[in-house]
Amino acid sequence: MRTLLILGAGTAGTMAANHLRKVLGDDWSITVVDRDTDHHYQPGYLFVPFWMEPGRVVRDRRPLLAEGVTFVEGRVALVHPERSEVELADGTGMTYDWLIIASGTRPDPTMVEGMAEALARREDVHDFYTLEGATALRERLRTFEAGRLLVHVSEMPIKCPVAPLEFAFLVEDHYRRRGLRHMVDITFVTPLDGAFTKPVAAGELGGLLKDRSIRLAADFAVERVDGEAGTLVAYDGRELRFDLLVTVPPNVGQQFVVDSGLGNDAGFVPVDKHTLRSVEHERIFVLGDASDIPTSKAGSVAHFATESFIDNFLAAVEDRPLPNSFDGHANCFVESGRGQAMLLDFNYDTEPLQGAYPLPAVGPMRLLRPSRVNHLGKLAFEQIYWRMLLPGHRLPVPAEMSMAGKRRPKE
Ligand SMILES: Cc1cc2nc3c(=O)[nH]c(=O)nc-3n(C[C@H](O)[C@H](O)[C@H](O)COP(=O)(O)OP(=O)(O)OC[C@H]3O[C@@H](n4cnc5c(N)ncnc54)[C@H](O)[C@@H]3O)c2cc1C
Repeated sequence: MRTLLILGAGTAGTMAANHLRKVLGDDWSITVVDRDTDHHYQPGYLFVPFWMEPGRVVRDRRPLLAEGVTFVEGRVALVHPERSEVELADGTGMTYDWLIIASGTRPDPTMVEGMAEALARREDVHDFYTLEGATALRERLRTFEAGRLLVHVSEMPIKCPVAPLEFAFLVEDHYRRRGLRHMVDITFVTPLDGAFTKPVAAGELGGLLKDRSIRLAADFAVERVDGEAGTLVAYDGRELRFDLLVTVPPNVGQQFVVDSGLGNDAGFVPVDKHTLRSVEHERIFVLGDASDIPTSKAGSVAHFATESFIDNFLAAVEDRPLPNSFDGHANCFVESGRGQAMLLDFNYDTEPLQGAYPLPAVGPMRLLRPSRVNHLGKLAFEQIYWRMLLPGHRLPVPAEMSMAGKRRPKE
């Protein structure tokens, strides 16, 4: 019997286990370890402060795993690649022939002075990158009716790098609908030099911020949060006053990755960006947010990468050359308020461009343009996630990014 061990039963771990159970024979055992039994649909965290019921984003993760996949509830404490063993926090040891690390990333507010303490008080400093945070923010938005509101990104990379922008557009719409927009001054604060990383998207998203009268504070390298004074302070001395701060703390890899000596400075595991294979340990692959690949940390990336990975894994275990090369494909909806959304489609080499998706000219979705159809696509993604992606059904969309329908900007 050969053993595949998967660390993490989130988006990537669940998809990988379910895909692989279909193609690996009975001589393979597949075991997935997770620290708890709650699977969260994290894209839903964005909507919880506004309208989505918190309970809607959580499901028991065990029935989401295919028959023939063993689930173990336990916290991973260490990986010992030299003896192909994983140690759980309760001392249990688990051996493997092949290992997939799919343990994601987590927000770590302790990395910014004052942030963890201010968040813990749940008064004027909030976040929406955890379900508890998003739920507390929901209550705060109900009572917050006037003042300076900062939507803040501490540093990159973060998972779903467009989510803070989406929050800014949605909160603007929230106050417009309540007739309080003129009472709330909104600023988007980012360490980047514009609204987003890539030039065309940064231009479009920056333009939309301007249209909605949302200020942009760029190049803001945060030094500390002063919860008492209500200020956000940058290393260059800039201070921004707030009455309500909605922050995205730094996102880091899991502690066991760091403790096992498998991570880079931020706790992400270095891999070959085209095969997702650990650069140091050939029997370890890393799927989802836990790796250091230079594309967005997003469920869509986990999905495309996992599809590309399956045949590579089958080849790796037979010691054949790996047939697929993952291109970094990411596909991100950006809620823009007013019942509309934008769509970004890009990969390692091609930045988000304008055009139509998935069919050239026809769409029906528009790239980098707010549209109602894009918004409906974002809402539909919730059901696609539970019913198609997690069970490991292939979508009628290729894993590789296509240039069909995309327009390059004129020089
Ligand atoms: C607010 C928000 C909005 C988002 N919106 C979108 C979106 O619109 N579209 C999109 O594509 N993506 C979106 N994402 C990102 C998406 O949710 C993640 O990129 C995706 O879930 C990553 O999958 P993963 O499997 O790598 O990690 P996760 O799904 O986070 O799973 C990691 C798993 O590892 C487990 N784990 C961690 N440490 C341990 C340990 N020590 N022992 C045992 N188990 C452990 C965790 O419990 C978890 O179940 C959003 C994320 C957020 C926070």
